[in-house]
Amino acid sequence: MSVSANTETPLVEVRDLVKHFAPGGGLIARRNAGAVRAVDGISFAIGRGETLGLVGESGCGKSTTARLLMRLLDATSGQILFEGQDITRLKGPPLKAIRRQAQMIFQDPYSSLNPRKTVGSVIGEPFAIHGLHRDRGERRREVQGLMEMVGLNPEHFNRYPHEFSGGQRQRIGVARAVALRPKLLIADEPVSALDVSIQAQVLNLLRNLQRSLGLTVVLIAHDLSVVRHMCDRVAVMYLGKIVEIGPNEPLYDSPSHPYTGALLSAVPLPDPSLHGRPRRLLGGDPPSPANPPPGCSFHTRCPKAQERCSEQEPELTERGPGWTSACHFPLSEAERAAMGVGGVGGVAA
Ligand code: SF4
Repeated sequence: MSVSANTETPLVEVRDLVKHFAPGGGLIARRNAGAVRAVDGISFAIGRGETLGLVGESGCGKSTTARLLMRLLDATSGQILFEGQDITRLKGPPLKAIRRQAQMIFQDPYSSLNPRKTVGSVIGEPFAIHGLHRDRGERRREVQGLMEMVGLNPEHFNRYPHEFSGGQRQRIGVARAVALRPKLLIADEPVSALDVSIQAQVLNLLRNLQRSLGLTVVLIAHDLSVVRHMCDRVAVMYLGKIVEIGPNEPLYDSPSHPYTGALLSAVPLPDPSLHGRPRRLLGGDPPSPANPPPGCSFHTRCPKAQERCSEQEPELTERGPGWTSACHFPLSEAERAAMGVGGVGGVAA
């Protein structure tokens, strides 16, 4: 095995990934009228040990992207490379082997746990599926080690999910997800169903595990403030496309795309002295992904839209090292200040 080659390869590379759903819910192989363009040609790479935030309003395609990465959905077209191997059409044992390397944490800790199983068997389920730690005592020790790792009392091994709080249930989901020591962890809105007071605890747990286990993480959220302190890079999605992607600092300090600016402007600030900052809240709902507007898909809601925007789709254009956005008329510093976002005169989440 060539070590040097492996260190060069991103853990995950997504190339022009497309997922269209037929109006009736079935899969279609090509674009046609009425197809729901849930994911519409996105490309990005995730380095080993990196945390990428995937952000956008509900329905923008981020959860579909997660399910495509996990191969819980088949792509309409495009490629997903995992350690350089195209997994887009894998089946059978090779797919099972990849699934061991990629695990997911779901949004709702209430519905993602089987209420009839004890916590011990929920967390130990991946071992059963993959034929690991078959000895009862050994499996119990492994599971209790995982419970301790995520901050649960190992003595509660035989309790049922309903005996735990929301935050504890999400910890159970995290323990199950890291049981097989995956390389990739996808967390789909892991804290949005939790009380605000609990959210930071679960995010801190994820960050600590990411560091101690060397995980590569995709963190999905509708709120840019949730991913700020956890992610190295952020990708902002709108109507099935990535409209801005880049390292944390430039993206939060000087967002280039008006949609990123609007998401940041909407973030509530805990510091009362900043409550008077200007804000530009986004009006209306995103258009239907079954009938996206021509040109820039954001033009129906964009305060900066001009004629060109409805005619010509903007391409992702470099704004700085590793940072691109798709906009004909990127935000200026004065516009960022007027929205209350960014560096000088504005506030990053
Ligand atoms: Fe707004 Fe035009 Fe930029 Fe689209 S291309 S985000 S409509 S300014």
